[in-house]
Amino acid sequence: MGDNVVVSNMELERLLSMKGGKGEGSYANNSQAQAIHAKSMHHLLKEALDGVQLQDPNIPFVVVDLGCSCGSNTINVVDVIIKHIIKRYDALGLDPPEFSAFFSDLPSNDFNTLFQLLPPLANYGVSMEECLAANNHRAYFAAGVPGSFYRRLFPARFIDVFHSAFSLHWLSQVPESVMDKRSSAYNKGRVFIHGASEITANAYRKQFQADLAGFLSSRSLELKRGGSMFLVCLGRTSVDPTDQGGAGLLFGTHFQDAWDDLVQEGLISSEKRDSFNIPVYAPSLQDFKEVVEADGSFAINKLEVFKGGSPLVVNQPGDASEVGKALANTCRSVSGVLVDAHIGEKLSEELFLRVERRATSHGKELLEQLQFFHIVASLSFAL
Ligand code: SAH
Repeated sequence: MGDNVVVSNMELERLLSMKGGKGEGSYANNSQAQAIHAKSMHHLLKEALDGVQLQDPNIPFVVVDLGCSCGSNTINVVDVIIKHIIKRYDALGLDPPEFSAFFSDLPSNDFNTLFQLLPPLANYGVSMEECLAANNHRAYFAAGVPGSFYRRLFPARFIDVFHSAFSLHWLSQVPESVMDKRSSAYNKGRVFIHGASEITANAYRKQFQADLAGFLSSRSLELKRGGSMFLVCLGRTSVDPTDQGGAGLLFGTHFQDAWDDLVQEGLISSEKRDSFNIPVYAPSLQDFKEVVEADGSFAINKLEVFKGGSPLVVNQPGDASEVGKALANTCRSVSGVLVDAHIGEKLSEELFLRVERRATSHGKELLEQLQFFHIVASLSFAL
């Protein structure tokens, strides 16, 4: 990626990924908070799984994680899902079916790192029970599926359970009007919609709703009758979309100020900053619900805003520099690939140094105020 690449909307799908590998700024090393938040919702996930209709055990049971990324979170959740379904077959005195798990994400996701993290396949012929009890084997066949979840990914009536965590707040593109200098929705001076104009934020809302509509219509074709979906994404408690809650603090304060630093120091032009926009939208419950209802294929078994907690995992919370580093790494693990593409790796390095410096001087406040809320949706076919 050169220094002056403007990421056009067409390219976002090709480019977007969390930071791959296992380094300091990688997603694999900066997703412990997501792991904790996911765990606190396991009871809701299991409730959703209890509603899945169990089929003939001679037919494989198919689980998909959409937006799997490349850390161990996806492997852990697939494990939880399959163990829970096995338990349900056991309770009925039935042998469980074979399981197939698809890990799906955009093509530039680091699938190699993910595949290397997968535990070995349990030996079905010999003693699956034993292998599973040892907890270091997997009880399913695994495959990766590259593509956008806003379109079709699987054959019709193929999937028993769709799971997706912390992914649906990523838009398929920055709305065109937000990138257009002549439009009143042009996001001048800002890199995110937190604190932006209402027109800009509404363009994001429309994009989110159009994307979610595409997601639901694709899944409604792919899900088996009797199957179930469990979806978690960033959400907000405010009705006002210019108040993006935790996502707003993450991308709209120190990150924003660091971009402004680069402009003021003459390292980038203000146009360069203004043409960068984080393609994330934290919806309200209402934003989400409107789309599910308009689609009409799914019954809402559960739809709520769930308090996730802080996205920062810090060993020494009293040490402000640890907090600063954690914020910069968190920010970088999710947006670093996009920033690198927009201003090049050298300036990206400068940017995140400034994020860290600014966050360090507000360490205590960040730990207190930076809280994520999630929308949790459990959906199955409407009768
Ligand atoms: N589910 C994981 C990772 C969440 S990170 C966890 O719980 O830790 C969000 C992921 O969503 C990223 O890997 C990103 O590439 C993916 N993503 C964003 N937009 C997507 C799209 N349109 N289609 C598929 N995956 C997408």
